[in-house]
Amino acid sequence: MATDLFTTARERLDNAARYLDIEREVIEQLRYPKETLAATLLVRMDDGSRRAFKAWRCRYNDTRGPTKGGIRFHPAVNVDEVMTLAFWMTFKCAVVNLPFGGAKGGVAVDIKTLSRAELERLSRSYVEAFSRFIGPERDIPAPDMYTNGIVMAWMADEYSTITGHPSPAIITGKPVALGGSLGRDDATGRGGYYVLDHLKEGLGVSPKETRIVLQGFGNASFHCARLLHDDGYRIIGLSDSTSAVYDPDGMDPYAVMEHKNRTQRVAGAPTRGAARELDNAELLEAECDVLIPAAVENQITEANAANIKAPVILELANGPVTPAGDAILDENGVVVVPDILANSGGVTVSYFEWVQNKAGYYWPVEEVHSKLKAIMEPETRKIREVARDKAISMRTAAYVHALERIGDAVEARGTKAFFSQKN
Ligand code: NAD
Repeated sequence: MATDLFTTARERLDNAARYLDIEREVIEQLRYPKETLAATLLVRMDDGSRRAFKAWRCRYNDTRGPTKGGIRFHPAVNVDEVMTLAFWMTFKCAVVNLPFGGAKGGVAVDIKTLSRAELERLSRSYVEAFSRFIGPERDIPAPDMYTNGIVMAWMADEYSTITGHPSPAIITGKPVALGGSLGRDDATGRGGYYVLDHLKEGLGVSPKETRIVLQGFGNASFHCARLLHDDGYRIIGLSDSTSAVYDPDGMDPYAVMEHKNRTQRVAGAPTRGAARELDNAELLEAECDVLIPAAVENQITEANAANIKAPVILELANGPVTPAGDAILDENGVVVVPDILANSGGVTVSYFEWVQNKAGYYWPVEEVHSKLKAIMEPETRKIREVARDKAISMRTAAYVHALERIGDAVEARGTKAFFSQKN
């Protein structure tokens, strides 16, 4: 249930707090979102009728800077999910030390039922509804599931119309021609690849010997799969929302993408050997060395965690493992590289895009890649060290690392310890 998502997210906060000497009021502040706005979008359909869509935006915490987070278009979007994703964004931005707080937005919609013109009207309508809530210095949206560059372009355009001047820094993940950053398209997958590459010796992973399964085959998954494939790793399983393909002999993610673009499914894609068609649940439990969930939340739970054969899980999706699933994986010695680190490459390059928009000065793609690596590697190393020093999981270590930074920011404005002292 979605409510569980937020409750369990907060459990992770409480768990991390046990390992830090942190003021209680810091935790108190992080238990609730700063503000959440709900709206109903009334959108004109192609047949002339008007349809209503529920929409939300949550600014969870802005202690460290303007809030940042994507907008999701998905039928299951609801306020608890939006709040939880905003909570995760707060920690994710702190994990990689971006000067941002966390936010998230969403619309409950199945975009497959909309025409392109209807999708444009829905996207513009979202910005109209939330135009006073967002802002380049206040809350900066970005893409998430089922939103992409053109949706960001419509949204930036709508915001610019409202403000009366071009405002590219209002949103990130825009097409490059409209102020997007080079290297944003593959940033999430690339960041995950840098994290795995940096940890590979400690995890016993190597390009020649490691077989990888990815759940999902969208933006995050495809780019991570292709970078791993280019580096020599063997991709042996991939899926989408309706099908999965598995071949221990491996497959070429570029060829799978070409097939998916043609047929809308990964099933039936060319592979090196005799491919087996599995369903999504079976794919998660398939034999492999690294499992990369890169689709939706709550995929590894108490129901299937014991059946996971991969010794390493890299969470490209947000929240793919539930706390109950985590406990079982932990007991079985499975190392989970947590979402707030593994998929933070996306928000990091979004930050670069915002910086470039504000400066009006644009960087070559090599500079984006090297700046991304220069952030991902040391933060990965620090989290690994915290995990070792405190003998805790990498997930708890990532929360501890982020919480320490958020705590420093809260304490820098004074807490009980400061105000109760005499001058
Ligand atoms: P996307 O829309 O590009 O791709 C989603 C993929 O998941 C598609 O292949 C879809 O078919 C598949 N999918 C959907 N429902 C599924 C289900 N029930 N079971 C299995 N597969 C399913 O989305 P994306 O941008 O790649 O995002 C994927 C995940 O990564 C999400 O959890 C998102 O929050 C997270 N993420 C994305 C970014 C980013 O920059 N794109 C950044 C950080 C985190």
